[in-house]
Amino acid sequence: MSRSPAAGSRSWQPAYIALGSNLDHPAAQIVAARAELGRLPQTRMVLASRLYASPPMGPQDQPEFVNAVVGLLTQLTPQDLLSALKAIEQRCGRPPDAPRWGPRIIDLDIIAIGRLQIDMPGLSVPHPGAAVRNFVIRPLADIAPALELPGMGCVAGLLARLGDAGLRILPEPQAC
Ligand code: AMP
Repeated sequence: MSRSPAAGSRSWQPAYIALGSNLDHPAAQIVAARAELGRLPQTRMVLASRLYASPPMGPQDQPEFVNAVVGLLTQLTPQDLLSALKAIEQRCGRPPDAPRWGPRIIDLDIIAIGRLQIDMPGLSVPHPGAAVRNFVIRPLADIAPALELPGMGCVAGLLARLGDAGLRILPEPQAC
């Protein structure tokens, strides 16, 4: 006899999250936020890119960024995943009113969720900036070069177009 799924259970979706930080030991901030992502409910972290240093976007009078991307499998809805990312940002010390292009202790963005295309107030997926940011596409290519970002193209093709100028691979910080 087959058993029906538990009430409220959802299918598992692949989701790709970009991490960035340029304050207070950025590589350590990325590692801490990555660990938090690995503890999300109804979610498994299955892939993690290398860490990259990148020049700041927007105002140049701020420290360089450290960036990475992780791949999750999640049963969370897109809205619940976004809320969970915002909660992690705040737990990591990011003020809710941090300026858009300024220095930041942690920034977590949903780059893609399966083949979903979402355009609603407060949530756009795939992330509209992804296709023009080599600091997102380069680490994403580490873990998912064949991934198709709906409406944008495949990751390897985007990387070939964007190149990796300005990016530097960083060593993984040692755990203490
Ligand atoms: P930022 O400070 O650049 O991370 O922008 C944060 C705001 O962008 C949040 O308040 C989100 O509601 C909104 N947003 C829209 N689409 C996304 C997305 N794909 N991932 C993360 N934040 C998003």
